[in-house]
Amino acid sequence: MALEKSEIAMQMFTRFLNLIATRLLANVSSESFSLLLHPLAHPPLLVRYRAELIISRVRLISALFAALTPLWIIVDFLAFEAPLSITLAGGRLVTTLAFAVLAMSYRGSPHMKDAYRALAIMFIIPTLFFIYSHLLLSNLNGEGGAAVIASGYAFLPFVLVAGLSMFPLTAVEGAVFSMPVLLSSAIVAVIQMNQMNWNTHLGAFWLLMLIAATATLASMSQLAFMTALVRQANHDPLTRCFNRASGEEMFDLQFSIAERNGSPLTAVFADIDNFKSVNDSYGHDAGDRVLITAVDAIRSALRGGDALVRWGGEEFLVILPNTDCPSAVAMLERLRANGLGQRPDGTPVTASYGLSERLADGVKDSRELVEIADQRMYQAKESGRDRWVGC
Ligand code: GH3
Ligand code: MG
Ligand code: MG
Repeated sequence: MALEKSEIAMQMFTRFLNLIATRLLANVSSESFSLLLHPLAHPPLLVRYRAELIISRVRLISALFAALTPLWIIVDFLAFEAPLSITLAGGRLVTTLAFAVLAMSYRGSPHMKDAYRALAIMFIIPTLFFIYSHLLLSNLNGEGGAAVIASGYAFLPFVLVAGLSMFPLTAVEGAVFSMPVLLSSAIVAVIQMNQMNWNTHLGAFWLLMLIAATATLASMSQLAFMTALVRQANHDPLTRCFNRASGEEMFDLQFSIAERNGSPLTAVFADIDNFKSVNDSYGHDAGDRVLITAVDAIRSALRGGDALVRWGGEEFLVILPNTDCPSAVAMLERLRANGLGQRPDGTPVTASYGLSERLADGVKDSRELVEIADQRMYQAKESGRDRWVGC
């Protein structure tokens, strides 16, 4: 009963999101829209590029702050009396050191967990400095220059949440990363309650939330742009399959995941039979249409996690993670039964397939797996076409 209720709620929520996606965002599909909300369904190549981009930006920004933070020591010395300015300078030097270590020693990685850690460290450093400087400055009753510089310290959280906009993030990530900054400024506000009235604190906090929301929207639009670019760079425009370069990269990635989990991974090499004759008899455009129909047929036989790669002209590689030979053969038989469409003369389009599986063939890398599937595809051609040869 409880499950049913939660399922219904989930369905309604999904429908609501679809409505927003179709009505408000016109050309954004609901699938791309959910990519912008949370990172759970991000495709592996997007994960890899995003992790690398986030880490390289963290390092760049940290290097910048490592250079800028100590410069302000001069301003502090001009504005504040000796004991306070020295203590602040100490905090700045520690902060500088932390930023420098982050910029110099954090290594690039294709994993989002490393990107999250880098982002978290980059946010924690100035947040701690913010709390530290506020504890020092909260008792200051200065006037003129000192008061102006002291109030400048209060703007640090605004700079931090605005800084979120420099990263391609989902809505959930934006909320999670701005939360510690919002919390720390709330804590500081409570500490300072006796010095400023509630209205001032609430106003500042409201402004901080608005900036956090705006920065998150900017992050989401960066992510949308990145998703579109990654998709465009990785797909073949005619068939909308992955292109060879991205296919090889993804296959490598899937191979190492399968190796780590000890799970099966099947490769199917497919080559359309006598395709050249379509081009020769009916022209290149007719050939293109046959190709598109065949690809649509293959795609509809695949599951969500499978990938279809255009390896060359009319040759395709199907990557089937967590799939052993018998399951792959069942998929192929289903595909052969449904057909790959028709040639312009009405005869059915057929293909020859070669199968290989990581565990059954005992291979050591993705390249070897493709080679075996390719050889078996040629065996299928030699023994009469329109068939599969497999493990
Ligand atoms: P087989 O059964 O031995 O595979 O014979 P085939 O004719 O399919 O093989 P072959 O490799 O000789 O021919 C492949 C042809 O595919 C040659 C090339 O002109 C054509 N081709 C490659 N890419 C495209 C494309 O994007 N569009 C069209 N229309 N034709 C293409
Ligand atoms: Mg062919
Ligand atoms: Mg060929």
